[in-house]
Amino acid sequence: MTRTRHAVAIYARISQDRSAQELGVTRQLQDCYAEAKRRGWTVADEYVDDDLSAYSGKRRPQYQRLLEDVSLGRRDAVIVWRLDRLHRQPRELEHFVEVCTRAEVGDVVSLAGEFDLGKSEGLFTARIMGAVAAAESQGKSERIRRKSQEIAEAGRPHMGGPRPFGFEADKVTHNAQEAEVIRQLAARALAGETLTSLATWLQETGVKTVGGKEWRTTTVRGLLTNGRIWGMRAHRGQILGPGVWEPIITAEQGERLRRKLLDPARRTNHSARRYLLSGLLICGKCGNRLHSTPRGKYRRYGCRKGADSAGCGGIFIYADKLEQCVAEAVLHRLDSPVMHQALTEDGIDQERARELAQQIDKDKTRLDDLATMWADGELSREEWTTARDRVKPRLEANRREFDRINHRDSIAEYIGHSAELRTQWATLNLSRQVAITKALLTSIKILPATSSGRHGVDLDRVELEWRR
Ligand SMILES: [Zn+2]
Repeated sequence: MTRTRHAVAIYARISQDRSAQELGVTRQLQDCYAEAKRRGWTVADEYVDDDLSAYSGKRRPQYQRLLEDVSLGRRDAVIVWRLDRLHRQPRELEHFVEVCTRAEVGDVVSLAGEFDLGKSEGLFTARIMGAVAAAESQGKSERIRRKSQEIAEAGRPHMGGPRPFGFEADKVTHNAQEAEVIRQLAARALAGETLTSLATWLQETGVKTVGGKEWRTTTVRGLLTNGRIWGMRAHRGQILGPGVWEPIITAEQGERLRRKLLDPARRTNHSARRYLLSGLLICGKCGNRLHSTPRGKYRRYGCRKGADSAGCGGIFIYADKLEQCVAEAVLHRLDSPVMHQALTEDGIDQERARELAQQIDKDKTRLDDLATMWADGELSREEWTTARDRVKPRLEANRREFDRINHRDSIAEYIGHSAELRTQWATLNLSRQVAITKALLTSIKILPATSSGRHGVDLDRVELEWRR
């Protein structure tokens, strides 16, 4: 943290709710300037929001301006008196972290303790602070949650919401058919059958969730690890004590299921390896999206078949050569006259953007809830991070796509200059490569293999669908 910074942002905010112990804005600013001086950094601008509670969700104009300046690369560090001056809600923090990460601004200094957002511990500390700040200002929803916890502790079922699978609407009486399904699922899971296989079995036998949906591995896991099915009252993932209903499976089975299915070591990390063309490739046989399906040490895209994937399992293609070919085609395309035209038209898919915005909102709320539950001690740190890591990849993928739709002009600078881009391409980070590729291509259909070699790409298999 000894690097010199020349375009430092200082952020200060005063909120009404704690004015008694609150340091005034002037004092916050003084402290921040002193810190900048101590580090030999040059302050470029100060951002001050006054008398608005960050938690109320009201827009803070200066904070918005700060975000914009950071994202446009105008600031290289941020100094804030305390982290909760910046954010009260974990979702805001997540967004802030994302903006900083994208702009490669790693120096975010809080006078109450500094974080290097480029490092995972720093990020973790920042998230904890964010979660704690959120919990502090959530007195009201806190009380509502406590009330439902009291009800939970009394062993009564939670009122409201849909009936749980295996039970009737009173949440106490067993639904005989579904209870039998649960018994079979539990026995098969304990015998070592995978969640994928169980979800597939449910789909094939036509058993639906209470909401009438198909089962996914996550819903099967949720069902089999919820203490409710062995007669326990669970609240937000934690088992509180016996419920007032009869168990469907034994408590011993239930505990074994929890150990087996909630063990973090069982979870696979799908995103360890990055794939340039994720989300773009379409199966030429069934029309579903291809996913990463590495084979040994080779990166590969494939049509996945199984409970969580609707694919046919009939198409696979090795990644390296394909990615090179697509990159080459993208670079070539940038110089074509159609690109000049396409970018000047309003070709933005607003409907998709709306859909993504909704999904993003839902996932952000999920992350908020998780952070609050962690801050309330309702989740262990491990449970929290495990759950969070399930939501985050999807959220990030959606955000990337949303960005692409809304920031198509990100490629404008390269139009007609593909030679420059070609020399830089290999050094661009993956998300930049993805942004450029997705700004140009809507999809790439991969047709069945012909006689080409193992790692060669038969270009006749690849159909590029250009964005227009
Ligand atoms: Zn397929």
